[in-house]
Amino acid sequence: MFFNKTIETINRKELDALVENRIRYTIKYANENSPFYKKWFRKHNINPNQIKTHADLLNLPIISGRTIRNNQPPKSQDFQFRSIDWNKVFTIHETSGTSGSPKTFFFTWNDWKRYAEKYARAFVSQGFGKGDRVVVCASYGMNVGANTMTLAAKKIGMTIIPEGKCVFPLRVIMNYKPTGLVGSVFKFIRLARQMSQEKKRPLESGVKRLVIGGESFAEESRSYLAEIWGCKVFNTYGSTEGTMCGECSQIDGLHVPEDLVHLDIYNPSLQDFVKDGECGRIILSELLPVGEKTGTLLLNYDTEDTTVVCSRDKCACGRTHMKILNPQREAETFWINDSPFNRVDIEQGVFQRENMEYLTGEYEVFLRERPKDGAITLSVNMECLDQENCCIPIVEENFLRGFLKFKPKLRREYEEGKLKIALNFLREKELQIYRSKGRPKRIVDKRQFHLKRTRFQ
Ligand SMILES: [Zn+2]
Repeated sequence: MFFNKTIETINRKELDALVENRIRYTIKYANENSPFYKKWFRKHNINPNQIKTHADLLNLPIISGRTIRNNQPPKSQDFQFRSIDWNKVFTIHETSGTSGSPKTFFFTWNDWKRYAEKYARAFVSQGFGKGDRVVVCASYGMNVGANTMTLAAKKIGMTIIPEGKCVFPLRVIMNYKPTGLVGSVFKFIRLARQMSQEKKRPLESGVKRLVIGGESFAEESRSYLAEIWGCKVFNTYGSTEGTMCGECSQIDGLHVPEDLVHLDIYNPSLQDFVKDGECGRIILSELLPVGEKTGTLLLNYDTEDTTVVCSRDKCACGRTHMKILNPQREAETFWINDSPFNRVDIEQGVFQRENMEYLTGEYEVFLRERPKDGAITLSVNMECLDQENCCIPIVEENFLRGFLKFKPKLRREYEEGKLKIALNFLREKELQIYRSKGRPKRIVDKRQFHLKRTRFQ
């Protein structure tokens, strides 16, 4: 089943030609409508007519969230990235960001429709269609994800129950019999626990598909959810900047809607593309269909996420658009000496199946450094279902095996005593994340003199 069969199954040659056609139009649109790009092309001596192919994008500088902030009030008089008249702007969004100063994005109604098309394709590729009822637990408002999914549902004729959060009365599940839920790993686990406490079985709820949006997760988390809900669990990747990619029925990478958004994967120095199969940074450019307009236009935008292109061949589902691995946030990657680890690696340790007999899945991590000898401690606080009866040696062994699975260097440092891993087992609601507001920060780096670094500096 396809949402837009012609474009989703277009052959590679035609798809590449379409992409280049749209690159040319988008660059032209940027030069004519975006105050930022008009100046930027001049400043960097770029002739927009010379940007014709995907490889030519390499010659354009890369912009980041900081570039957007520096080109909007209060740093700049007007919004330099706004690329349409104020009276054509349908909605204005801000992304909160970690720096505290939000980035502004302008959307036309057609921007919304294109965003919704990307989600509609993903939903249909996951088997959703007419007659499905989906509870959206993601929040509505400044965040575009939930609204985009709701518009996508309109396109494919399914029903949305816009809860906007995961805490809702179970009658929603009992009375409306949703066939799908959109939320996060932790929301689905909590919901399942809430149901069990009220003597309801998630397995018998009628939910056929779970869609995890906007976060990377470990395969261990997926299989645990699949087991407790007794259904398929799909991943989607989306952002206000317009990356909306989704796993299809094959659950083997996320399809990128290549005709609407162009993703290049760059090497650590952000100088060149990496080969398919190699990990790199996702650099995004919007692609406008010829004749279309947009509210905010981004070219070569650094998403600060990393991924790997796993295939540009035709997928078993019939789609020809390329597939990428679950993207990870660079901001959730931490370094211990020369070894990086991501939040997902921690979850690979926490969500080992046997651990879930004892744990709720909720956890938090603190990284500390001992000043006298530089030894690093990774303290992992885990919430237990029943602290008295938690089998600590089993959980410890499983955690270490899962966490260090793909980390030979860290394993060595752990074995040599340069890295201490301390697991703490806490009662329900004792974790510090419960006392912090907003999105829980799972990993807190307390190392004072530690040089903050990333692979991409
Ligand atoms: Zn596929």
